[in-house]
Amino acid sequence: MPSTCSILKKLKSDYPTITFQPAEDYLWSPSQQTVYYAEDSTDKDGCAYLLHELSHGLLRHTDYDRDVKLIAMERAAWDRAQELASGYDLFINDDLIESNLDSYRDWLHARSTCPNCGATGMQTKKLAYSCPACSHKWRVNEARICALRRFSI
Ligand SMILES: [Zn+2]
Ligand SMILES: [Zn+2]
Repeated sequence: MPSTCSILKKLKSDYPTITFQPAEDYLWSPSQQTVYYAEDSTDKDGCAYLLHELSHGLLRHTDYDRDVKLIAMERAAWDRAQELASGYDLFINDDLIESNLDSYRDWLHARSTCPNCGATGMQTKKLAYSCPACSHKWRVNEARICALRRFSI
């Protein structure tokens, strides 16, 4: 059976308090203390994503109330993942990390741009923005969780 990531077994024994569960996509669940990982044997970046989600757990990342915080959490989790990777003789490509963070930046940009005048809005509540230029207020859809998508580099 092809494995998702060569160090999965090792991670399980090194982090016995964290559950590793196969799923559709990579995700850290704070309430279940579980790293969900995609069973995709063709994905050579599987280890990187696995370590990234584990890092969210080790950094005790939970919910966030402002979208910019999510970007900071993503960055921190990648930094930790890189540290972890070196301990397992692995290396996470910077391009992978940057393209991933870019997807969050694009998402944030799309949400925070005023639909009325195009200025950058201020987040007032978890799902609400307000424009400092024209006072327009708008709501955004459900906040994003860390569900990583694949990108071709
Ligand atoms: Zn505006
Ligand atoms: Zn993440």
